[in-house]
Amino acid sequence: MRHALFAAVLSLIAVSASSAQAPFQPDFAALETETLRHFQALVRIDTSDPPGVEKPAADYVKQVLEAEGIPVQLLADDANRPNVVARLEGSGRKRPLLIVGHLDTVNVDPKKWQHGPFSADRDGGYIYGRGTVDDKDNLTAALMVMLQLKRGNVPLDRDVIFLAESGEEGATRTGIEFVIRDHFSAIDAEFCYAEGGGVTREKGAVRYAQIQTTEKVPNGIDLVARGVAGHGSVPLQTNAIAHLSKAVAAVAEWQPAINLNDTTAQYFKRLAGISLPEQARHYRNVVSGNSKLMAESDAWLRANEPRHASMLRTSVSPNIIQGGYRNNVIPSEATATLDVRMIPDESPERFMAQLKTVVNDPSIDVVFNGWPPTLTGKSRNGGTSRIDSEAYKVAEAAITKHYQTITLPTMSTGASDMAFLREKGMQCYGIGPAADVEDGPKGFGAHSDQERILEAELHRFVRYHWDIVYELARAQ
Ligand SMILES: [Zn+2]
Repeated sequence: MRHALFAAVLSLIAVSASSAQAPFQPDFAALETETLRHFQALVRIDTSDPPGVEKPAADYVKQVLEAEGIPVQLLADDANRPNVVARLEGSGRKRPLLIVGHLDTVNVDPKKWQHGPFSADRDGGYIYGRGTVDDKDNLTAALMVMLQLKRGNVPLDRDVIFLAESGEEGATRTGIEFVIRDHFSAIDAEFCYAEGGGVTREKGAVRYAQIQTTEKVPNGIDLVARGVAGHGSVPLQTNAIAHLSKAVAAVAEWQPAINLNDTTAQYFKRLAGISLPEQARHYRNVVSGNSKLMAESDAWLRANEPRHASMLRTSVSPNIIQGGYRNNVIPSEATATLDVRMIPDESPERFMAQLKTVVNDPSIDVVFNGWPPTLTGKSRNGGTSRIDSEAYKVAEAAITKHYQTITLPTMSTGASDMAFLREKGMQCYGIGPAADVEDGPKGFGAHSDQERILEAELHRFVRYHWDIVYELARAQ
């Protein structure tokens, strides 16, 4: 009671102090029911990709926006797979802000789900279902922000553009790539916020937040060994499998040089500040510039924290090996496929030259294999978004306000649609709600068979999302 009274007095003071400027502040407590309603409705629409029939979810979003008087465009390359775009116009004093969520989800194996994958069941403070943390959380938060801006009739310095994408989970040709190729003016913006960051809780307490500012560039490379075919009873030194095996071993052993950028250097420095002494020492070592310390801690990270080791450099993982078809035949060909994740400022040509030196075998061709496919045929390299931009600072300030924690700028080792937007010159930042670090290993994370979100964290994320959009776009 005393707290309630105190809060009431505080809000009175806040109202009288702010009445001169009258900044619009949504009634978030009252909005929670509506947030939950839209979130559950979206989780209950099956948008598993493939096949990725996003249409019903796109229609739902469209109808919610239109009911509020916000005009909506459906942009579709495939009628079942529309992208939803809506725009709130500002004065044009600044260039637009784009907020993004995706409509599709990865597939489910319904047998493995305790709560149905499209149930949106509420249980013990969680909401369960496919997409609850990837990406119907971002989708719903962005939707709620649009509704509030419109209801508050908030004067804006820049347009706020909402994009609900199709095809994020592996069909970017119908989603972001199609929208960029055919309708770029509908989404062109100075800044964007999308999935890819988040807030990490440990034992129920917030530990740190992450804003994704860049990501590694996925490239497939094949090693194709060629030799003479023959009878297995007469071993040959040209055996393609033997040559390939040597090459794969050499490549797996090879560690491309450590190469940090602004984001990863800041990431390790800041992480050191909130880590136990042993880990902190390794994080400091890798940014020390001292080659001996760097090598020592690189080895430690490779053994103990492989994701962090991957953040240090272009990484190579041999993931497919093929060759031979019967016991008594020496095959003429064998192939290994490498998953190469380049740091954004890697030169593909230079890397290829290095890789060939490592393979060092004239009987083996080393070639890019075109993975992952893109509409342009080029790999998706959007570079690195700045960590001193207005959009980054606003997001960091909102994290301090809502989560009282430190922000780590982050480079994803995996790929996201932001790379395509960054390629077009947008400064993009990945954000997300808070989740318990314990949830992933227990099987409750994104893409798991029991995906879930903390209900309170969904609501906190809406408030955080509101603040960053409002601060960045409102008329000043
Ligand atoms: Zn996603």
